[in-house]
Amino acid sequence: MTTETRRIQIRGIPVELVRKDIQNLHLGVYPPLGRVRVAVPLVISDEAVRLAVIDKLGWIRRQRARFAQQPRQSQREMVNGESHFFLGKRYRLRVHELAAPAHVALRGIASLDLFVRPGTSVAQREEVLAQWYRLQLKERIAPLLEKWQRLLRVQAMAWGVKKMKTKWGSCNPKAGRIWLNLELAKKPEVCLEYIVVHELLHLLERRHNDRFAGLMDQHLPHWRMCRETLNAGVLGHEVWDY
Ligand SMILES: [Zn+2]
Repeated sequence: MTTETRRIQIRGIPVELVRKDIQNLHLGVYPPLGRVRVAVPLVISDEAVRLAVIDKLGWIRRQRARFAQQPRQSQREMVNGESHFFLGKRYRLRVHELAAPAHVALRGIASLDLFVRPGTSVAQREEVLAQWYRLQLKERIAPLLEKWQRLLRVQAMAWGVKKMKTKWGSCNPKAGRIWLNLELAKKPEVCLEYIVVHELLHLLERRHNDRFAGLMDQHLPHWRMCRETLNAGVLGHEVWDY
């Protein structure tokens, strides 16, 4: 596949321009600093790219402004009172130092209890929580995959959960392998279902084309609402063509 990457400036904003063998133009603004990347088909001229980006300048600036305001994940201190999200709900973190194996528990509707050994570092506390998110996510993904594989008559050969910087999920149709972003644990469950369906549909249609959008409309009519919810979060990302 031919790929060419260049850096250009559009109205003072640095833009990473990637030309490759794709059909549609994709624009994304990525955390943590609001990096702008536009992937375009080989045949589109520089001028057309420039106009397309200028057309979306308002959206790009809003995304960048939001990243600038957002507290970074790395600034998390993992201390009492901090807000953490699980399945779209906000919880208050309570840290309990105990000489026992680390674990996490939800208490009531608003508390997320983190049990760690005394002297545990911030990074270790984060890891305990990440492991818990991973487990919770996997427990929810398994039945969703089962349900949708049956409905769509497709079969993923393998799936997993991992930390991803710019995508909510990915699918390698050839290998039949699906990855889901660990961050989905923080989002409402309908969003998780949307990403599961989206990635499974790539087993039927690789590209984000009209056929793909049609399949989404057919199987999950509220998918655009889910996408909005996800785009409002840290991984702001827009695909223009659907
Ligand atoms: Zn996709």
